[in-house]
Amino acid sequence: MIYKTFQDLKLSSLGFGTMRLPCLEDGSIDQAEVDRMVDLAMQQGINYFDTAYPYHGGNSEIAIGKSLSRYPRESWYLADKFPGHQNVHGVKPMMPADVFEDQLKKCGVEYFDFYLLHNVNENSMAYYCNPENHCLDYFLEQKAKGRIRHLGFSCHAGPEALKQFLDQYGDKLEFCQIQLNYLDWTMQRADEKCRILKEAGLPVWVMESVRGGKLASFPAETEARMKALRPDESIAAWAFRWLQTVPQPTVSLSGMSSSAQMVDNLRTFSELKPLNEEEIALLQEIARDLTRAIPCTGCRYCCAGCPIQLDIPNLMSMANDLMLGGTSINTMMRYTALGDGHRADSCIACGQCREACPQKIDVPAQMEHLVELVSKQKTWEEVCRERAEAAAKASK
Ligand code: SF4
Ligand code: SF4
Repeated sequence: MIYKTFQDLKLSSLGFGTMRLPCLEDGSIDQAEVDRMVDLAMQQGINYFDTAYPYHGGNSEIAIGKSLSRYPRESWYLADKFPGHQNVHGVKPMMPADVFEDQLKKCGVEYFDFYLLHNVNENSMAYYCNPENHCLDYFLEQKAKGRIRHLGFSCHAGPEALKQFLDQYGDKLEFCQIQLNYLDWTMQRADEKCRILKEAGLPVWVMESVRGGKLASFPAETEARMKALRPDESIAAWAFRWLQTVPQPTVSLSGMSSSAQMVDNLRTFSELKPLNEEEIALLQEIARDLTRAIPCTGCRYCCAGCPIQLDIPNLMSMANDLMLGGTSINTMMRYTALGDGHRADSCIACGQCREACPQKIDVPAQMEHLVELVSKQKTWEEVCRERAEAAAKASK
């Protein structure tokens, strides 16, 4: 196992994410398989485990806490998160103290090694940054009491909002978890986020390294080209080998669903074998084909002349994101947060941007496509309602 230093700790660079735990036919978590995976993790040197309040309708915390309790408390690090992002449109606003006490109980621990404000984005910042909510203050108090050892945040915001959040709270937080993989390096501007975090002196934790499994399998012909270059590696391993070309990540989370996936990841994380230039070029080609991406470079040449003042590159990036799927709910939250008059449906199809675009992108047509994509997505309110129903069902 490759280890990374964080302050006075030695963290395994592979973390066990528990959002996609193995399940039985009735949809409940397969605790026996979770135990087998935790045993394997502990034997092979994984010491970082990550859960969150909404995962598996609230049952991920119970499952991982139960499994880890079979090992000495000082032999593993547990991360949990406060779902403040659900307090923006949540059906039932959650208070930090209520959630935190519940989480400690569910996980069966007296403290969390790592604790995160969950999903800071353009939408949830309204909650997190409002001092009247006493959210950050509360968690800083828990840290002072030793019930949280390290406080950070996970972030799905664009670089501008990330910077704004860091300007306000960066000195109180110790790490930031972002979506980082070879697709989102440019598509979600993760390259810019890494630069901003480096400037702020915050280490990077990685989530969605294989984009919810989307980067773990491709059509046979594509996989054959990859196998020709790396015959002994799995397709998922390529995503982690790409991460090894980025110097910043401390912990890279993988939401593993079986012992077989864990065995494969453990093999990958046993040594550094970063991709070479030829392999990176192949991944870029695959990513383009996979997403049928709009080739927007973010140059903003089209923006000044837009009579509606739309943030065109941002909307193009969201369209790319929705076409790929996987993390579409975060994109939808960002899209909603743009507000009336700033979304794709406000485009009047004047065509100015098409003329200005050096990439010859038919922006008005893409705006229409984005409106159609958005109409097929679930709203955040619908997701909250579904999660609340799932949690209620699970607690019966
Ligand atoms: S076509 Fe739409 S996006 Fe392009 S400049 Fe006109 S209003 Fe703006
Ligand atoms: S001009 Fe074209 S490439 Fe540049 S930001 Fe606008 S849409 Fe994207």
